Amino acid sequence: MASTQLQHARAGTVTPAMKRVAARENRDPEFVREQVAEGQAVVPANRNHDSLDPMVIGREFATKVNANIGNSETTSDLTEELEKLHTAVHYGADTVMDLSTGSNLDEIREANVAYSPVPIGTVPIYEAVKRVDSPEDITRDLLLDIIEKQAEQGVDYMTIHAGVLMEHLPLTDGRKTGIVSRGGSILAQWMEEHGEQNPLYVAFEDICDIFAEHDVTFSLGDGLRPGCLADAGDDAQFAELDTLGELTRTAWDHGVQVMVEGPGHVPMDQIAENVERQREVCDGAPFYVLGPLVTDVAPGYDHITSAIGATEAGRAGAAMLCYVTPKEHLGLPDREDVREGLAAYRIAAHAADVANDLPGARDWDDALSEARYEFDWARQFDLALDPERARSYHDQTLPGDNYKEARFCSMCGVEFCSMRIDQDAREADGEMETIESATDLDASPAADANLPPVGAHDTDRVPDEIEIGGVTFTPESAHGDD
Ligand code: SF4
Repeated sequence: MASTQLQHARAGTVTPAMKRVAARENRDPEFVREQVAEGQAVVPANRNHDSLDPMVIGREFATKVNANIGNSETTSDLTEELEKLHTAVHYGADTVMDLSTGSNLDEIREANVAYSPVPIGTVPIYEAVKRVDSPEDITRDLLLDIIEKQAEQGVDYMTIHAGVLMEHLPLTDGRKTGIVSRGGSILAQWMEEHGEQNPLYVAFEDICDIFAEHDVTFSLGDGLRPGCLADAGDDAQFAELDTLGELTRTAWDHGVQVMVEGPGHVPMDQIAENVERQREVCDGAPFYVLGPLVTDVAPGYDHITSAIGATEAGRAGAAMLCYVTPKEHLGLPDREDVREGLAAYRIAAHAADVANDLPGARDWDDALSEARYEFDWARQFDLALDPERARSYHDQTLPGDNYKEARFCSMCGVEFCSMRIDQDAREADGEMETIESATDLDASPAADANLPPVGAHDTDRVPDEIEIGGVTFTPESAHGDD
């Protein structure tokens, strides 16, 4: 049986995937190997995912961002799903989770894997629910069949809610919002109905064997994460975390890569201690957090409430941030929501990298600031996290080409432009220091993943067309580099 990235790393082998992520992160391949061997980083790379451009998730590397996509009962078809994949990759998602719960689940998953240069994640229990009349009818064998099939289809990582145990359920009784994870609530219902332990926990070593065969990475789900500030840091959350620590070590014993999911809704002052506790309990396995939202009072703006928490989580050592869109708690996100969510999270990830002094991370900020002070509007737009947004906002009031070299914009106007005034004053007294050496981004030690344009993935292996269910698809939009 072929070895996993973890097994190769432990054996001292630097794999082609490790070499590639080392190049993307501008790190020594041997350092990547050590981080993977010690379980401090993961390279999610299913052997069946042919179009993948490998990436790394770990505390010592650039903070990554995941985007959730997927259909529901009422939306959407295969072409629409590929369009969502393209949108997510285009706006800088480092990984994409297909959370489809509607129809054509296999076709959509296969198409996403075939077209995605970034790792694809899934939550297999969603498909299990679709395959039975009622969640109580889910069986251990059904779960294993679905997990094995998805592994064969090339899914790179799967959320497995194996840490929710029967004995944890009473600990949620005093909560304001109960169990808010979909997987957690389904499994709690199953355990209460059957009076038996979580089947994902019972079958965990069988799942490890499947993951080892295909090199699927665990994303250990936090089914008891808090759904509001009042429930943050309660006994249920931390009892599950202890089980996730145990499962992390079991997966490592089977040579399987692991990352651990985290909350949710957490007051700002508790975020760092959450990250530190996870690191301790799970022996440094990468932490993948959803937000967290730092306040519950802003539905419609939860990409902001959560990006604030995500920045703090990244600063404290979280390795990957799962984006939240403005539609969180309110409805299914559309394309524009995906864009807003990803922008908020790219900002959070980059701010954390700057604060953590990731080598070269601030070069991007410095280069943009230089362009701003030089009134080099075109370069400022090119360097912007969302160039299309920056250009369009500027051009709303000053659209002409002549304004692309203007020493002002419409915010302060020519008379009150402070940067123009500052430059004139310095020139007038002869002490103006001109900017002679602009930051050379090409020579920056920062990772490709941390420099504009975001979403710079190698799409060489993404096919021009694929055949799914006897139908050939050639969606141009499936390529994520334009
Ligand atoms: S007008 Fe104001 S906002 Fe615009 S470039 Fe000058 S200082 Fe900056």
